[in-house]
Amino acid sequence: MGDCIFCKIANGEIPAATLYEDEDFRVILDLGPGSKGHSLVLPKAHYANIYEMPDELLGKAMAVAKKAAAGLVKGLEADGLNVIQNNGLTAGQTVFHFHMHLIPRYEGKEEVIGWTPGTLTDEDKEEILAKVKI
Ligand code: 5GP
Ligand code: ZN
Repeated sequence: MGDCIFCKIANGEIPAATLYEDEDFRVILDLGPGSKGHSLVLPKAHYANIYEMPDELLGKAMAVAKKAAAGLVKGLEADGLNVIQNNGLTAGQTVFHFHMHLIPRYEGKEEVIGWTPGTLTDEDKEEILAKVKI
């Protein structure tokens, strides 16, 4: 993936503030943080989204996210942390190289994530259960 910015960052061709690195992943600080310490877990291999990620690598990504999340919360004395992963333009994905966001949260600070809860209607519930086959 010659023109993928996250391929270049993950593989060290473009410098980034790196919190953690192993043979498969790099964890970096996001340049447009939603909160102090907002970080990204990047696989070194290129996969556009969660559907393309091999199961084994996805499992490793979650383990790296866990380790980095714990380090962020401890080091920055955060009160919580969101793990977010966007797939597709409509879901807010802007860089099409799989990544997980780690967003530390601080009591009384930024409201970076949220939605207005709706109601799960019987109609929706039946339709969804009938349509979604996993
Ligand atoms: P997405 O919207 O695709 O889920 O997230 C992309 C994230 O990558 C955004 O939070 C954005 O701030 C971050 N980002 C985009 N380009 C760069 C970059 O060159 N370096 C770093 N460190 N973060 C980037
Ligand atoms: Zn890439």
